[in-house]
Amino acid sequence: MSPSGGPPPLRRLVIPGLFVAGLFAVYFFRQGPITGVSSELAITGPTMGTTFNVKVVTDDLTEANRERLTSLVREALDGVDNHMSTYRSESEIEQFNRGDTEPFAASQDLLEVVAEAQRVARLTGGAFDITVGPLVDIWGFGPPGATEGPDEESLQELVAVTGFEQLEVDVEGGTLRKARADCRIDLSAIAKGFGADQVSAVLTRQGLPHHMVEVGGEVRARGLNGSEQIWRIGIERPTSAGRSVQYVVPLEDLSLATSGDYRNFVERDGVRISHTIDPRTGRPISHNLASVSVIHESCMTADGLATALSVLGPDDGFELAERQEIAAYFLVRVGDDEFEERQTGVWKRLTENSPGAGVVK
Ligand code: FAD
Repeated sequence: MSPSGGPPPLRRLVIPGLFVAGLFAVYFFRQGPITGVSSELAITGPTMGTTFNVKVVTDDLTEANRERLTSLVREALDGVDNHMSTYRSESEIEQFNRGDTEPFAASQDLLEVVAEAQRVARLTGGAFDITVGPLVDIWGFGPPGATEGPDEESLQELVAVTGFEQLEVDVEGGTLRKARADCRIDLSAIAKGFGADQVSAVLTRQGLPHHMVEVGGEVRARGLNGSEQIWRIGIERPTSAGRSVQYVVPLEDLSLATSGDYRNFVERDGVRISHTIDPRTGRPISHNLASVSVIHESCMTADGLATALSVLGPDDGFELAERQEIAAYFLVRVGDDEFEERQTGVWKRLTENSPGAGVVK
């Protein structure tokens, strides 16, 4: 989305449209040659300003079944978009954002995602903070599009508005409440993962427990693939030229989310400005962490944790991930297209001893 009238002041380097499907590109691997007909049905399409990619293992490969499943998947993703998109003025989240400080009657889905966002915020000392909405906008990464960046005074005013403590979630009472009317929430760092969880739940309810769901680079895998192997997902090596796989992750009833600075950024005076904001300073992160990937049962949680660890950076983030027993994989930039990798103990345990998994040489 770009502002109306005139060229945008900054070159926004987000890869638009379908190409964003490759954001933290997800590569699907099979072990060994496939013989016979694959029984995987593939469903793809646009959603949430990016794309989704679903593979379902089924004996029914008919067009009628594809259409039926496509409409169920679409319905689940459209539901998330209608509730949680800050790009839709009539979405539930935008109604809350425009509202005052009175309790807001929220849907179960919105309450669930906000409650998990608040849990991740507390776990990470506020590194994850969905009240960063106004800061995301002023740095040019929100729905209004590219900006010149804030002046110091506006920045400090917005930092004062930001803070996850300003948000109260009452799951039992079914309400959300903000301490200040100008507090605005942004679920871009967690709702795609929730979308993948929702689609996976829909497929499971349809009696289809073997599937892989990817939404904008966040992946949830259940059961086995069409070759009766564990799903294997590739994490992208974040080099400036071309695309290749850094690490192959085996996912057995687990999810994988990746957050990083190398595809969604703007450039000002040759300096890269990340779309991930450190809520403590109100500024985009500027350390040398290229990407963080997290494995978790819940794709929503993996999604939120990956962004939180990105904010904390290669040292504090890694230390927190070890302490909290988070399965995390860090790629730290140490030179032009050179990276140092760090794996937490839980990551190693989940990925080692799986044939074909690990670093791609
Ligand atoms: P992630 O690391 O997963 O998230 C980074 C994003 O989270 C930032 O862009 C910012 O919005 C937010 N953020 C930054 N810092 C923090 C922090 N410290 N704590 C918490 N959050 C932070 N994009 C469009 O261009 N058009 C659309 O119509 C559109 N619709 C969307 C609808 C929904 C429901 C959602 C969830 C997103 C939508 N998006 C849309 C946004 C887009 O698809 C991506 O979600 C976004 O670009 C970031 O995803 P990511 O995986 O690159 O980064």
